Amino acid sequence: MTRLYVAGHRGMVGGAILRRLEKRRAAGERLDLVTRTHTELDLTDQAAVRAFFAAERPDVVILAAARVGGIHANSTYPAEFIYENLMIECNVIHQAFAAGVTRLLQLGSSCIYPRLAPQPVAEQALLTGPLEPTNEPYAVAKIAGIKLCESYSRQYGVDYRSVMPANLYGPGDNFHPDNGHVLPALIRRFDEAVRSGAEAVTIWGTGMPRREFLHVDDMAEASLFVLDLDRATYEANTQPMQSHINVGSGRDISILELAQLVARVTGFSGRIETDPTRHDGTPRKLMDVSRLRDMGWRAGIPLDRGVAETYRWFVDHRDAFRG
Ligand code: GDP
Repeated sequence: MTRLYVAGHRGMVGGAILRRLEKRRAAGERLDLVTRTHTELDLTDQAAVRAFFAAERPDVVILAAARVGGIHANSTYPAEFIYENLMIECNVIHQAFAAGVTRLLQLGSSCIYPRLAPQPVAEQALLTGPLEPTNEPYAVAKIAGIKLCESYSRQYGVDYRSVMPANLYGPGDNFHPDNGHVLPALIRRFDEAVRSGAEAVTIWGTGMPRREFLHVDDMAEASLFVLDLDRATYEANTQPMQSHINVGSGRDISILELAQLVARVTGFSGRIETDPTRHDGTPRKLMDVSRLRDMGWRAGIPLDRGVAETYRWFVDHRDAFRG
């Protein structure tokens, strides 16, 4: 029996990972799943996290808990983004180690890479140049998470891995009009425009930046794929101080093209306007996903299908996002 703790199971990715693990358990895998809500366990509280690990003694940890948000939230709350993420990573990774956990998977983000890294961005681009200012505090915390995993693995022989997803989206996303990421924000804005009969929808920035989107179910599958790799395979495909693995679809799209896709899916036929007074952020964020592809995994959910499915989920849950 493997006792597996999913930190952040109420979040979009943690939830998708938990659903996949529950399916495996239902199919007969001997899994004992441990979770805690934010109210039950504050992961920024060192003493509480220590007591949790001492009592629960998991064998494996998936760290999917993080303070996340889009370009506006990152620029508005930089203190929370760096503080909470550093605390969560330090507490979970160190206390897991102190409680004897030998296998851990940490989830990061493609924003760890330099703003102007050559595209598509390979894992080796980490720490080769200045970061994008709009999310630098978050990125620094996520880089620290990778280095925590690498340092504990190198010094103590544990097997702590990291995966860096592209911009994630899917059911359970944050559809807040200002604080979330672009895809859920646009789904909500275009849906509201259709229902109010608005003639135009405004998107932030110039519409020119390019982003790579990955459906959260693909991310959940990739996370478990990486966690399940045997150690020799993982280590043969990574380097001791560059041990993270990119997870993406391998395709990017401009924000204007994304808006056109969301317009089609939601049935909006009016004008799309840009607002260049808003930040564009990184000009392009496309990851080189050949490391993971070479090990045998590739994304399976095309963006148009994923957006249509996410829109249906939003419509079913729309009432919860009012106000
Ligand atoms: P980023 O990948 O860290 O920049 O995160 P976001 O998902 O927040 O933003 C991606 C891009 O979409 C940026 O260039 C934003 O300016 C642009 N964008 C356009 N409209 C929106 C919107 O309504 N919300 C957000 N969050 N971004 C938007």
